[in-house]
Amino acid sequence: MRYLSTRGRTAPQSFADILLAGLAPDGGLFLPESWPQIPADEIAGFAGQRYADVAFAILKRFTGDSFTDAELREDIETAYSDFDAPDIAPLSQIGKGQYLLELFHGPTLAFKDIAMQVLGRLFARALAKKGGKATVVAATSGDTGSAAIAALGGLPNIDVFVMHPKGRVSEVQRRQMTTAPFANVHNIALEGTFDDAQSIVKSLFADDAFAKRAHLTAVNSINFARIAAQAVYYFTATAKLGKSTFVVPTGNFGDVFAGEAAMRMGLPLHKLVVATNANDIVARALNEGLYESGHVHATLSPSMDIQVSSNFERALFEASGRDAAWTRGAMESFAVKRALKLPAELRARLRSRYDAGRADDAETLDLIARTFRETGRIVDPHTAVALRMAEKLDARLEDPIVVLSTAHPAKFPDAVARATGQKVPLPPRLAALYDGVERVTVLPHDLGTVRGFIEERLRPA
Ligand SMILES: *Cc1c(COP(=O)(O)O)cnc(C)c1O
Repeated sequence: MRYLSTRGRTAPQSFADILLAGLAPDGGLFLPESWPQIPADEIAGFAGQRYADVAFAILKRFTGDSFTDAELREDIETAYSDFDAPDIAPLSQIGKGQYLLELFHGPTLAFKDIAMQVLGRLFARALAKKGGKATVVAATSGDTGSAAIAALGGLPNIDVFVMHPKGRVSEVQRRQMTTAPFANVHNIALEGTFDDAQSIVKSLFADDAFAKRAHLTAVNSINFARIAAQAVYYFTATAKLGKSTFVVPTGNFGDVFAGEAAMRMGLPLHKLVVATNANDIVARALNEGLYESGHVHATLSPSMDIQVSSNFERALFEASGRDAAWTRGAMESFAVKRALKLPAELRARLRSRYDAGRADDAETLDLIARTFRETGRIVDPHTAVALRMAEKLDARLEDPIVVLSTAHPAKFPDAVARATGQKVPLPPRLAALYDGVERVTVLPHDLGTVRGFIEERLRPA
């Protein structure tokens, strides 16, 4: 299995190479040269299997000869050994034909653990085989940072720089990052938005000399290994329920694109519903045909406060018929104009698999309150955005409907308290969160300052 770039100017690479690189050198995102196909009878057989076994069956199609079966198995087993649900991603029925797919049972209580726990182990293994060191730089809207720290903290030869927008993540999210006790973890609170942080990360990668000197790499959802690992729960849920509609709270488009990946591997599903908060760039692109970046609004679902959805590039590349020249031109023009008009035919292809809509903060609070009143269940604000979308689009969605529940409500206590008057206790694994000492450096929204900060902390070659 080899990987190519959506922008067409990178030679094909192995899984280990793209795992360690993150972003393609031509600025594009990696995708497999062709999608591995999983036969229908194998998918049906997933119903009775352990999550880790399904993950192995799917991931080994992507890893090629980068790891032995024994290595891949070992890393998947340990990755999922610290989840507090035996099913890893359990389904719970919340209404007629409606289910929550609970993705928050990992160490940091958000769905990013599911992919990051595997990625961290494979990453360390690939790096040990190759030799050398790596500097992970991640922009986070809240949950990527803590998931990356939980997966990479304390590993040899890896430094981790995590940049979050100052004051725009919840206190629980911030403390999960800043109280991590690892010497190889460096937290930056950037004076700006998530998109400012993401754009600094992109500029650092674009600075060839620096990127080479620092051995820069990315483990956010632009890293294809994340997408591959996230495709797994679309398979496990479908094996149990049959062909379904998936409603996905969306920011950077990684989680929902993992659903497209699953479809392209042969998984039958009705539709993928993109649910955004007020930062609705992708919903507008799908509904109106203009992919246009505006100002970031701070919302109650901060992990989706994004106006540039990096992984949308993968969906555009696929919908263009894998036209790398078109994708490169479109993305380069978008970088300058902050707007891209989608050709009608391409949008029609996207619409054949995606439906989309948005929910604002008032709807989010109302949904959390009603769900609590009607079912006794407390959901987090990101899950609520998706639940609201399932409700709004109800008439046109085919059953069963699976709503991805991406975070534990205890991560967002303020929103939950406003909606329900309830205080969700922190699960035992986060009990010590408020005792830990915070380690974080506030930096201005300035590329040179951030680069200097990283440079000063790099390991000697
Ligand atoms: C990251 C995140 C999302 C959005 O996922 P994307 O892959 O960026 O679309 C949704 N909910 C929560 C809780 C998250 O942490």
